[in-house]
Amino acid sequence: MRQIQKSQKLADVCYDIRGPVLEKAKQMEEEGQKIIKLNIGNLAVFNFGPPDEIVQDMILNMQNAAGYTDSKGMFAPRKAIMHYTQEKKIRGVTIEDIYIGNGASELIVMGMNALLNTGDEVLVPAPDYPLWTAAVSLSGGKPVHYVCDESADWMPDIEDIKRKITPKTKAIVVINPNNPTGALYPVEVLQQIVDLAREHQLIVFADEIYDKTLYDDAEHVSIASLADDVLFLTLNGLSKNYRSCGYRAGWMVISGEKRYAKDYIEGLNMLASMRLCSNAPGQFAIQTALGGYQSIKDLVAPGGRLCKQRDLAHRLLTALPGVSCVKPKAALYMFPKLDPEIYPIKDDQEFIQELLVEQRVLLVQGSGFNWIAPDHFRVVFLPNTDDLTDAIGRIAAFLENYRRR
Ligand code: PLP
Repeated sequence: MRQIQKSQKLADVCYDIRGPVLEKAKQMEEEGQKIIKLNIGNLAVFNFGPPDEIVQDMILNMQNAAGYTDSKGMFAPRKAIMHYTQEKKIRGVTIEDIYIGNGASELIVMGMNALLNTGDEVLVPAPDYPLWTAAVSLSGGKPVHYVCDESADWMPDIEDIKRKITPKTKAIVVINPNNPTGALYPVEVLQQIVDLAREHQLIVFADEIYDKTLYDDAEHVSIASLADDVLFLTLNGLSKNYRSCGYRAGWMVISGEKRYAKDYIEGLNMLASMRLCSNAPGQFAIQTALGGYQSIKDLVAPGGRLCKQRDLAHRLLTALPGVSCVKPKAALYMFPKLDPEIYPIKDDQEFIQELLVEQRVLLVQGSGFNWIAPDHFRVVFLPNTDDLTDAIGRIAAFLENYRRR
């Protein structure tokens, strides 16, 4: 029999958050080993349950959720999203500009698939949430990574962006708040990106899925609120801010300069129609979530569980020899650096796998986020303080052995 090969479209596609190291962890679990998982931002499995109102409302609405809906989504949740965009000062959004998806993930892939021809370039941050890079590659495009500068609190390096714009650049991805760095961009930085997008006619894809997961009373500005003459696609959803990853409820909003995007929008509509609609129970959840105040605020406020866990993880990690880390201002992650003089790592996936096998702690290596050197890893600070302390203690023991090699 002939071997069945995966399609060549997947040749450059990579998504290491659920990659080979996770497979190894699953195998260890099957053998009965207990692993502390600091690898995925899946709130519900760490006892961050969804707001009760959402669950109750979904249950009540199950009878009404058995049919297909409009491809872009039902009217009421789209109306709630429209109201949300008004709160975020994004102007001129109509119901027709809103697409509901099975999580933001589906819409990220759809947004790229509808846009890119072979060789078209998209500027993606490094480090990034790797679905963005993967979606560009899968769509036949070329991801071009612009650097976020650790020494400047992980802000996008505007000069690097300028250097990397070519006649083939179609779009720029802005992940704010950022996964994996936890950075939150001030309006001045966003404005510079908007200016470049205007000058070079780039579409801005704004991933704002953590826009309510903010610490230290920080405020989030939607980049799409800063201009009417640039085309923005803003992505958001319930997964993180409403602790409902499993409900697969996300949305995408088109705003700004839509007049020249008729053909692209036709493409998006076609892709939305082809998958018929997103799951209807998730759509009901959106309507309830955005209608009330039951968000993540109490958890991220000073003294709230997430805020305490962030503070603890940051304090413990930065106390380790050769480990430095920008303190996250938002989201669920931090992205510590290992001093290469002390830890001369060649292959960071191997490094993370050794940590897993020796200490039963699961992290994701920096290269999994398209980071340029094998000297970072991402920590998800969702486990409770006891588990975090245990996990970071094990990381400390592993690093100590590593230094002695
Ligand atoms: N965007 C970012 C930055 C994320 O971190 C994630 C998930 O971790 C997603 C998008 C995917 O969101 P969803 O669950 O809505 O598909």
